[in-house]
Amino acid sequence: MADTPPSLYAAREPIFPRRVTGFFRSFKWWIMGLTLGIYYLLPWVRWDRGPNLPNQAVLADLEHRRFFFFWIEIWPHEFYFVAGLLIMAGLGLFLFTSALGRVWCGYACPQTVWTDLFLLVERWVEGDRNAQLRLHKSKWNLKKLRLRVSKWLIWLAISVATGGAWVFYYTDAPTLAVNLVNLSAPPVAYISIAILTATTFIFGGFMREQVCIYMCPWPRIQAAMMDEGTLTVGYREWRGEPRGKNRKGAKATAAAQAATVYDYANLPEADQGTGDCIDCMACVNVCPMGIDIRDGQQMECITCALCIDACDDIMDKIGKPRGLIDYLALEDVPPAPDSPERATWKPRPIWRHVLKPRTILYTALWSAIGAGLVFALFVRSDIELTVSPVRNPTYVMQSDGSIRNIYDVRLRNKSGDDRLFHLSLTSDDTLRIALEGTETLSVLVPANQTLLQRVYVTARRNDPAASTDRTDLRLWVEDLSTQTRTSAATIFNGKEE
Ligand code: SF4
Ligand code: SF4
Repeated sequence: MADTPPSLYAAREPIFPRRVTGFFRSFKWWIMGLTLGIYYLLPWVRWDRGPNLPNQAVLADLEHRRFFFFWIEIWPHEFYFVAGLLIMAGLGLFLFTSALGRVWCGYACPQTVWTDLFLLVERWVEGDRNAQLRLHKSKWNLKKLRLRVSKWLIWLAISVATGGAWVFYYTDAPTLAVNLVNLSAPPVAYISIAILTATTFIFGGFMREQVCIYMCPWPRIQAAMMDEGTLTVGYREWRGEPRGKNRKGAKATAAAQAATVYDYANLPEADQGTGDCIDCMACVNVCPMGIDIRDGQQMECITCALCIDACDDIMDKIGKPRGLIDYLALEDVPPAPDSPERATWKPRPIWRHVLKPRTILYTALWSAIGAGLVFALFVRSDIELTVSPVRNPTYVMQSDGSIRNIYDVRLRNKSGDDRLFHLSLTSDDTLRIALEGTETLSVLVPANQTLLQRVYVTARRNDPAASTDRTDLRLWVEDLSTQTRTSAATIFNGKEE
């Protein structure tokens, strides 16, 4: 009988991380507050852009295919700004991953931030790790039902707020909020909120670390960006092993608490032969991924550094220097314990891990693209035109023998006011320009709109351009209220001899 292949999926064991305090935990609280604050509040920030434009600071106006970001307005043909920003975001991720490993996953990834928020609610409703474990193992009764339903309702409220905030980025937020309550908002708004509510509730409440382990491709990609010089959370095995429980409860000395670098050269006599890890499991109990960092670097580790806070707290209590678990690079692993070099070994300074050719290259590329986008932003004009020659036919011979070419000109008025645009030519000064539908060479373009104008250019029978196959031509447009000018090059097709 054939053997059944082993399953590639392990059923989820719920994880109940213990509360922890320390530098990295505080840092994560700050990042969580900042990112959630930005996400929920940004659509409500108003921005006065003048008449005929939306007064929302950040808006993806899909209906008119424009993006507003404070004072910046991106039109569809300027999508290179969005592409540039996406490339910068990618390079930024490469840069941080190369220097500091999975800092994105540990601190700023939405899955991490919302899971942290849900854990906070869970702890507030059900208590810390031990109380949660007891509740998990207990049979269903009124108390368990009350606590679970309370927790789920708060999670649901957060999830609805999360889905709701998302749709406010796509239309005027106050108007949509009223329409949502009146049940008169477009169906797509309700569908988007429902989908995001469901994903937030399920991913943050029930799947948590499984999203990182099984669904997210990023951990696999990041591995390719890290090298032996990348700082990532690790356990100083050479210092912690062999583990011993005997020092638990030992008194901390002021000197030991103040120490930040382990003094290999002067190990106390009593510590020879035993490591600093007292196997208290504090690092494992606080880990939101449910792993033991002492087993070495693992794909599941999101480098949130909570185990560093937990272990530092233990080291303080037993009078040992902090840093048994720390941000480490593989290249900093010291020589074997019995090597005479170990006594004088010191890890490389942090700046040498951060400043290396790869990170310098990423920073240079990132800065160059950023500078290019800023430059493009400042040199772009409030008016634009594109010129498309009508090719069928390429020219028309009129009854007096003159040659006429036809062009479709798109005039874009990016300002908030209606503007009068004047069209003219430079090149062969014998060529004549005329606009369809008007006797003048000026045309009114409404605010924030693109106008399609048909333009005729004519060469009289004896003009050189009439008998020249192709004559270079430049079409100019001037905003008469600001004297801003811009131009586009094209070709005048003459009669082929
Ligand atoms: S918290 Fe520190 S001392 Fe406790 S088990 Fe983890 S590594 Fe060892
Ligand atoms: S091992 Fe430490 S750094 Fe890694 S996920 Fe767990 S707590 Fe965070």
